[in-house]
Amino acid sequence: MKIAIQKFGGTSLGTLDRQNMAILKIIEKVKKGYQVVVVVSAMGKEGNHYSTDSLIKLINKEKIRKKELDLLMSCGEKISATVMSSLLNEKGFNTTVLTGYQAGIITNNNFGDSEIIEINPFKLLEELERKEIVIVTGFQGGTSNGEVTTLGRGGSDITAVILGIELGCKSVEVFTDVNGVMTADPNIVTDAKLINSICYSNAYQLAESGAKVIHSKAVKIAERNDIEIKIKNTLNNCSGTTISNKYPNRVFNDSSFFAITYKKDITQFIIETKNKSEVVSEIIKDQGRIALIDMYLNNLILTVQKNEVEKIKKILTREHHIYKIYENYSIISVIKHKIADIPKITLQIMDILKNNNIEVLKINGFYSKIQCLVKTVDVEKAINLLHETLKVDLI
Ligand code: ADP
Ligand code: ASP
Ligand code: MG
Repeated sequence: MKIAIQKFGGTSLGTLDRQNMAILKIIEKVKKGYQVVVVVSAMGKEGNHYSTDSLIKLINKEKIRKKELDLLMSCGEKISATVMSSLLNEKGFNTTVLTGYQAGIITNNNFGDSEIIEINPFKLLEELERKEIVIVTGFQGGTSNGEVTTLGRGGSDITAVILGIELGCKSVEVFTDVNGVMTADPNIVTDAKLINSICYSNAYQLAESGAKVIHSKAVKIAERNDIEIKIKNTLNNCSGTTISNKYPNRVFNDSSFFAITYKKDITQFIIETKNKSEVVSEIIKDQGRIALIDMYLNNLILTVQKNEVEKIKKILTREHHIYKIYENYSIISVIKHKIADIPKITLQIMDILKNNNIEVLKINGFYSKIQCLVKTVDVEKAINLLHETLKVDLI
């Protein structure tokens, strides 16, 4: 059996027109003689009734148990899978729909961010023997006692890669609404360039630093199992980006790679304390995630993502700490092999932003990444300026 995995993200399924474009990609593959496993995300993003964002808005996220939140969030993919199945049936194709759990994806019970611990693809293989197309709901699995779990936001990419590995595929196709991995978010930087091939470690770094186009965990799992991820545009025939460790025309560490990413919704806590390490350890013990830590004499500054804020507030209040909160920041990352070894780049970044009246609240250099914290109102302008100026030296 020749098996292909095709994953369609919410951005590819938000309207009937887009769903029909996705259907064409599936039919094309079937016509080439493949048995196709289609992995779908929920339809659309914010604003679309059946998107994950809209489902979450139906309840008070802070007041619902994580288990029930997973049950609710898993519905978007079920709706999407059924809609895609019916569109394919209308065109005369035999399909069957399986939830992640029915497809054999077993996870631990860390609701909201579950890890896959086992895959039993018997039913999936059985269905593939009988039908030419099996549609699997992305982003979800189930515990060994059958409770519904989700894999973390953006987790349908993980479903696609896991099933590709289990079914012995050399690659999986991830369809989205842009041409592939680009040197910056093309919805913000109009002259962002397509990266035709990228190694797993650069793709991982990019995804971890905010480029939503692929989930970082999917990249890690693909690397460990040596399976390629091909990112393609549902809306055209662009060749896209291949994530692998093979570069036909490049040196080993992909030294010409350069990208700028950003993460919005960053919050800073300024905490008055002499016991800075103790506060950090309290937060980490309670599984709070901190992006950046700064320690001064009597102050501790924690830079965190918005989804960590409530948890950290609770910990600080419980421990009677005095703190202030500053919201609406963004972290910009300029990514390039050994970038921290090029001091002039840090100066260049500071100059570009200063000359354009963009306040830099913090700047940090790591091995292959320079990060700076700016106000979110400035982030789009900052990324455009940095991309325009730095690409001359760095591409
Ligand atoms: P999907 O619903 O297909 O999973 P996502 O929203 O998760 O789509 O990811 C695709 C989006 O990623 C694009 O619409 C684009 O705005 C964003 N993006 C951010 N950074 C990049 C980048 N460097 N290259 C390509 N896309 C990016
Ligand atoms: N629908 C889920 C989300 O919005 C999963 C995904 O899109 O991959 O996070
Ligand atoms: Mg996605």
